[in-house]
Amino acid sequence: MTQTFDFIVVGAGMVGAAIANGLAQHHHTVALIDQGSEPAFDPGQDPDIRVSALSAGTERYLRSLGVWEDILAMRATPYARLAVWEAPEHPVSRLLPGGPPRTTFSAADLGTRHLGHIVENPVTQKALWDRATDHEEVTLFAGSGVDSLQEDDQSVTVTLDTGEALTGRLLIGADGAQSRVRQLAGIGVTRNQYGQQALVASVRYRGEPEDITWQAFHSSGPRAFLPLHASPEYVGESWASLVWYDAPEVLSELKALPAEDFLARVREAFPQELPTLTGVSARASFPIARQHAHQYFQGRTVLAGDSAHTINPLAGQGVNLGFQDAQCLQALLDEARRLGRDPSDPELLERYQQQRRPANGRMMATMDVFYHLFSNSVTPVWAARNLGLGLAQGLPFARNRVARYAMGIDEGLPKPLETLLSRAPGLKRLVGQL
Ligand SMILES: Cc1cc2nc3c(=O)[nH]c(=O)nc-3n(C[C@H](O)[C@H](O)[C@H](O)COP(=O)(O)OP(=O)(O)OC[C@H]3O[C@@H](n4cnc5c(N)ncnc54)[C@H](O)[C@@H]3O)c2cc1C
Repeated sequence: MTQTFDFIVVGAGMVGAAIANGLAQHHHTVALIDQGSEPAFDPGQDPDIRVSALSAGTERYLRSLGVWEDILAMRATPYARLAVWEAPEHPVSRLLPGGPPRTTFSAADLGTRHLGHIVENPVTQKALWDRATDHEEVTLFAGSGVDSLQEDDQSVTVTLDTGEALTGRLLIGADGAQSRVRQLAGIGVTRNQYGQQALVASVRYRGEPEDITWQAFHSSGPRAFLPLHASPEYVGESWASLVWYDAPEVLSELKALPAEDFLARVREAFPQELPTLTGVSARASFPIARQHAHQYFQGRTVLAGDSAHTINPLAGQGVNLGFQDAQCLQALLDEARRLGRDPSDPELLERYQQQRRPANGRMMATMDVFYHLFSNSVTPVWAARNLGLGLAQGLPFARNRVARYAMGIDEGLPKPLETLLSRAPGLKRLVGQL
C-alpha cells in the first residue's frame, strides 16, 4: 500500500533532518528516509571524527527549530577567536620583521559573544532526529534506501529497498554528495577533485578547552586546530580536532603510524600554538572535491545540502550553506501553501535555484581562490597573499564586515566586496596560471 505525505525527504543527515523539522513546524506532513540507523550519543564516548564549525547564522536557525539547547546539553564548544596565518616557509618571510602577517578575528571586535561552535556531526543530527520524531507530522523510515522514483502531473512516488512505496507532492534530495536522488532525477554535476586530502584526528591535550580555532597555511596545505570539550575521563585535559591537508600519499603514511609516532609527527609539523598533546583516539582521511549540481531541481525533485554542492572544507562552510538552502526552501514552500500553489511549480523552484546556486557558487569560488593562492610558493603569489593578510589585519572595518558575513552574523556583504567576490572565478583562473 502506498503512503501519502506532503513532502518526501531522502537523507536524514543534518540538512535533511533540519528540513523535515522546519516543514513539520508549519504542519506539512513529511516522510523522512535514511539508509542509516538512528545516531546515538553517550557523554562518556570519545569525540566523533566528523565535526563542523557551526556559524552564528546556523545557531539562529537551529534555535528556531527548537534543537539548539539539546545540542548544547549534549556537547558543543564555543570559540571566541579565529586566527589565520601563513607558515614562515618562504625564504622571503624570514626577512619580514615579526614574521608573516596574521589575521585574528575576535568575538569582542565583532560585537558578539562567540564566533561559532564546534559540534560533532552526530550530535547535531541526533538532536534533529529526536525533535523530528516528536512532531506527529514526521514519519521516519530509518534503515531504508531509495530504490526508484516515478512522477506524474500530481505527485512523485519513491519505492524503498524494503519494497514500501511513498507518495508526495515534492521530493527533497538531501542524501549527500553521492546522492541517489540526484542520479534518479537525471541531474548532472561538475566535479573537481583537489590534489590535497584532509586527515582529521581527534586528539587530547593538557589544559582547559581553548576558545580559539586557528589555521596555518603551508604550501602543502593548511593545518588547523578546532577546540572540543573537556575530557570527562582525563582530568585537566581537553579534546581537539586537528585537520592536516596534504597529498594523499603523505596522509596514508601518517594514518598508518603507531599513535605515539603520529603524535610526534604532529608536534613537529604543527605550529608552536599547538597545546601539549597527550593522546589520539581516531584518525581518518577524506578526499576533498568541489562539486556542483547543474540544476537544483528537475520536475518534482529538488536538491539541498551536499547533494547539490560540496565545497573545500578549509573554511568550514559546507553544512552552513546546506542549512541556508534549507531555510530558503522552507520559506518558499510555506509561501506556496499560503498561495495555494503546487510546491513543485517551476517558477517557485526556479526562485530557490536563483537564490541558492549563485550564493553557493560564490563561496566555492572564494575557497578555490584560497586553495590556489596558498598552495603556491611562487614569489609574486606569496607576496600578494601576505599583502592581503596584512591589509585584512590593517583594515578592521572591511575585515570585520567580511568576518561577520562568513560567520553568519550578517546576511550579506557590503556591495563593493560582493562585486569583488563575484569576480572570484576570474581571479581563480589567474592564480591557476601562475
Ligand atoms: C574533513 C571535513 C571537514 C568538514 N568541516 C566542516 C565544517 O567545519 N563546517 C561545515 O559547515 N561543514 C564542514 N564539512 C562539510 C559537512 O560535513 C557537510 O557539508 C555536511 O555533512 C553535509 O550534510 P548533508 O546533510 O547535506 O549530507 P550528509 O551529511 O552526507 O548526509 C546525507 C544523509 O543521507 C543518507 N543517505 C545517503 N544516501 C541515501 C539513500 N540512497 N537513501 C536514503 N538515505 C541516504 C545518509 O545516510 C546520510 O545520513 C566538512 C567536511 C569534511 C569532509
